[in-house]
Amino acid sequence: MILHGRWVEDSPLSQRDGADMSGKRDYYEVLGLDRDADEKALKNAFRRLARKYHPDRSDEPDAEDRFKEIQEAYAVLSDPSKRSQYDRFGHDGPGGGFGGGFNVDLSDLFGGSDIFSAFFGGGGGGGQRSRRGSDILYRHTVSSEDVMNGADEEVELELPTSCVPCSGTGAEGGVLDTCVECSGRGVLSRMVQMGPFQTRQDRTCPSCDGRGKIPKTTCKACKGRGRKEQSTTLRFSIPAGAEDGTRLRLRGKGEPGRDGQASGDLLVELEVSPHPYFERSRSDLIMSLPLGYADLALGTTVTLDHLDGKPLEIRVPKGSTAGDTIDIPRRGFPRLRGGGRGDVVVLLKLHMPSKFPRQVRAALEELREDMAPKDLEARIRDEAEARRRGG
Ligand SMILES: [Zn+2]
Ligand SMILES: [Zn+2]
Repeated sequence: MILHGRWVEDSPLSQRDGADMSGKRDYYEVLGLDRDADEKALKNAFRRLARKYHPDRSDEPDAEDRFKEIQEAYAVLSDPSKRSQYDRFGHDGPGGGFGGGFNVDLSDLFGGSDIFSAFFGGGGGGGQRSRRGSDILYRHTVSSEDVMNGADEEVELELPTSCVPCSGTGAEGGVLDTCVECSGRGVLSRMVQMGPFQTRQDRTCPSCDGRGKIPKTTCKACKGRGRKEQSTTLRFSIPAGAEDGTRLRLRGKGEPGRDGQASGDLLVELEVSPHPYFERSRSDLIMSLPLGYADLALGTTVTLDHLDGKPLEIRVPKGSTAGDTIDIPRRGFPRLRGGGRGDVVVLLKLHMPSKFPRQVRAALEELREDMAPKDLEARIRDEAEARRRGG
């Protein structure tokens, strides 16, 4: 299970100690690590903290924010290129820092259970945040057979749904008060001296998380979160020819919106399991076929089970050479766009056993003269000529 999030600069974490100009805490500090911590230490720290602060399991009042913070820190530090960028430039790295999506695989941390939560809200900048529910990314593994033929899937997932007793407000009886700290604006502003300039810096009000409203009494059923995880059956179709990374959007199946706003979407990202011998190139399937010398010399036909359910017949013509390719048209994957199918491309290889039985060896000795090029020097010149011509 993969959790996915978009991080916004304007985060309620900006109040924390040790925050820099961007309002974020140092990632190493978040995970309680030295700057030279290795991969293992990083993983252990993340594991420990993610368990402690996972919002579905933790009773800490700021669990959700801490969890987001931990997730982001880990997403950046566990990626060597992002980490070195962070080490050099901090949060304000080139290209807008680390505002991209973070994918953190939590499946090994929580025994493979389906866990959704802590998706970073959209929007950004000052002002009251949009309360549309966040999108949820769910990775779904499919086989090459499914990609070839298409498939209808049905999966059972724990998905966040709006809490019924409080109608998703997080407040007992749905009663909300105006936030005192921000006077209902959802943001706090302050003037900051930046060199010769005075600039206004807005940040999301940490008391109300940008809502401008606060529950009069926290809803007991959802601990004020406004949503609960519920087992939900999802049905979707895998389009024939789908690629690794193809995303299906299930509208309104994401995190419920707050305060009457629309729900987010659920994005199903397809992960195509690698095939034991086919390699994919667009809609073509490429494979290597190792054959003995006799099969290459005399020609042969090889029949394999194929993903489309019909046998795949590979006709190797006599006089074939290692490196020749055989194109079997329209037996590759269906094209996602434009229709038709790709090809199967077979690359011939010469299989050379490391040991020969005595009689094979004797036969080869006998054939050596007959199979040798008649005029070796002329052949060498021909090869050189072919290479010059770009062969
Ligand atoms: Zn507020
Ligand atoms: Zn509730």
